[in-house]
Amino acid sequence: MDQDNHYDVAIIGGGTIGLSAAYYAAAAGKKTVLFEKNVFYNDKGSSDGYSRMFRVMYSEPNSAMLAESSLALWNEIEQDTGVQLLKRNGLLFYGKNTEASAEGGLLQCQETMTALGIPFQQYDRAGLFENYPMFRELPDGYWGLNQASSATTEVQQSLRTFHDFAIKKGATLLSECPARVVDPKPGAQSYTIDTPRGRFTASSLIMAPSAWSNQVFAPFGIQLNLSIWQMNVAYFRVDPSLPWPMWFEFGEDSEQKPLQFYGFPPLERPGYIKASCEFSNQHYTDPSQCSYQPDPRTLKQIGDFLVTRFRGVDPTPHDAATCLYTMSADGQMILDTLPGYPNVAVLSGDSGRAFKFTPLFGRILMQLATTGKTPYDISEFSIKREGIIKA
Ligand SMILES: Cc1cc2nc3c(=O)[nH]c(=O)nc-3n(C[C@H](O)[C@H](O)[C@H](O)COP(=O)(O)OP(=O)(O)OC[C@H]3O[C@@H](n4cnc5c(N)ncnc54)[C@H](O)[C@@H]3O)c2cc1C
Repeated sequence: MDQDNHYDVAIIGGGTIGLSAAYYAAAAGKKTVLFEKNVFYNDKGSSDGYSRMFRVMYSEPNSAMLAESSLALWNEIEQDTGVQLLKRNGLLFYGKNTEASAEGGLLQCQETMTALGIPFQQYDRAGLFENYPMFRELPDGYWGLNQASSATTEVQQSLRTFHDFAIKKGATLLSECPARVVDPKPGAQSYTIDTPRGRFTASSLIMAPSAWSNQVFAPFGIQLNLSIWQMNVAYFRVDPSLPWPMWFEFGEDSEQKPLQFYGFPPLERPGYIKASCEFSNQHYTDPSQCSYQPDPRTLKQIGDFLVTRFRGVDPTPHDAATCLYTMSADGQMILDTLPGYPNVAVLSGDSGRAFKFTPLFGRILMQLATTGKTPYDISEFSIKREGIIKA
């Protein structure tokens, strides 16, 4: 074995999760290498753009508790690096008492916040109008919850911080370096990884290749039921005299199916809101099928929604962009070791919600890959749940 090219931990995928795993592995004293097939901070995967929602408001108590654990780690990283990564600005969840969707449900969130003793403010429809002057029209029965420890996460700053501090802790991070695991054997003590920069070996593997999961997992003989959604996001000019919170609407379409829009007051573009929706008209089986061209139909749906719901919004989208959701079969994330490979840890099917868990999941992946276990309860993310692995 070439000792120079042998690592304790090798990581495939240098989005937010892979970079965080590299940071925690190197900080734990592991000789760490990360392979990213694109450049770092690329706009082809899921970690693109400027802002993400951080929230602890979840329908399932364990997700809320994991979000709180993640918040503690975000705070720790901010302190250790001196870089501010979260801007605490509260989050308004509002809408109908719909059945809990993949994003949860208002009633379920309220019950979970109450059970866990997490403070929140509740508003009926009149209270929403009174406290949020940007509302123009709200359907009957709408109500809302505001949770103050929510925050906007600064995407680019966060990626750079994990990248730079992983290197400071001694990790080797290789960009434009696609990686392929060669002929892995269940229970192996060492894995061989082929890259354009040569052949590497590692005692443990972490794989966080998101939309490319099935390509990367193929040598293990494991394929997941994944769907790649090309999501659309754009900036819309707003009346700057109105205070805009970070908001998420739990609405319904005419067939009572979830219809969900959300938006931020973007730090990078004052005088606008950045808005998007939880649906896409572009579903694929492989990222090579994605055009990365924004969909005018979806952008119009977002603009039409904004002018109906809010005052002082211009529905013309500006700087529209796309970004990928990697959806699992049940809309829940996958965070586990690969069956038969206790030293190979994976995150996949992040289903549009893993950014807030960046430090926690990086740490968990490092623990799983190097010890086969983690003290956190991640049973809801098991790869063995029904329908996740292709039969
Ligand atoms: C529009 C949008 C809004 C979102 N909003 C939120 C939000 O508000 N809150 C939240 O928590 N989350 C949100 N998310 C989800 C969040 O952004 C993702 O869960 C997160 O970015 C996933 O990161 P990742 O590192 O797993 O994947 P990625 O960032 O896609 O990284 C995977 C990387 O693996 C690399 N790769 C693939 N194959 C190989 C290979 N063979 N060799 C080497 N490298 C390889 C790819 O090039 C890629 O860079 C949102 C996502 C989108 C698209």
